[in-house]
Amino acid sequence: MPNIIDNLCRVHQQIDNAANKTGRHPRDITLLAVSKGQSSTAIREAYRQGQRHFGENYLQEALDKQQQLADLTDIHWHFIGPIQSNKTRKVAESFDWVHSIDRMKIAERLSAYRPDNNAPLNICLQVNIDSEESKSGLHAHQVENLAQAIIKLPNLKLRGLMAIPESRQAISEQKKSFAGLAKLLANLQSSSPQLSTLDTLSMGMSGDIEAAIIEGSTLVRVGSAIFGPRQHPR
Ligand SMILES: *Cc1c(COP(=O)(O)O)cnc(C)c1O
Repeated sequence: MPNIIDNLCRVHQQIDNAANKTGRHPRDITLLAVSKGQSSTAIREAYRQGQRHFGENYLQEALDKQQQLADLTDIHWHFIGPIQSNKTRKVAESFDWVHSIDRMKIAERLSAYRPDNNAPLNICLQVNIDSEESKSGLHAHQVENLAQAIIKLPNLKLRGLMAIPESRQAISEQKKSFAGLAKLLANLQSSSPQLSTLDTLSMGMSGDIEAAIIEGSTLVRVGSAIFGPRQHPR
């Protein structure tokens, strides 16, 4: 197993440095450890180092690991992959966050299936920020309509926006996409009082943590920089 302790330390350092550059507090940035393709042993190791938020892309894989980690009661599970409608019941029952909403039908089903004794499911709308053909997500002009519809659903809590930009090397290029998502969130917040409380920009992965934080990310989704290469790549 790669050295998860050292890796987590290094990622926290990166977050601190990027936050300091722009006068932000590292405490205002959540580290989501993306554990798809990683074992429950690896997750447990990160948990022992204080990591509490974990992200998964594939439902069955996530459910298996949740069962193996059922003793870790204060863990927060985030679903970050595409959701098919026949998976909505299990997702609504087993996660605290869903970052990948781009259709009303899926949102309605998640709200309907969210158990009454659970807190509302936290939701981010996924935006196809670089308008790539191969990627899922909303186009910028569709975001406000879906947001207005979703805030009416009783068992969901809309938190903000998520994006997976085109992968680029240059920090200046990475920043452009992230700035675009930040602008979209700002527009949404000022568009109506009910949307003014949105507080989440889910952006930044292993290769672009710094650019994302400089542009205002409140939650970075980091996999390989913490856990090393994925063991069960799909
Ligand atoms: C896999 C994945 C990540 C993590 O990617 P790394 O490059 O390993 O950090 C983040 N977000 C989403 C949506 C993913 O699917």
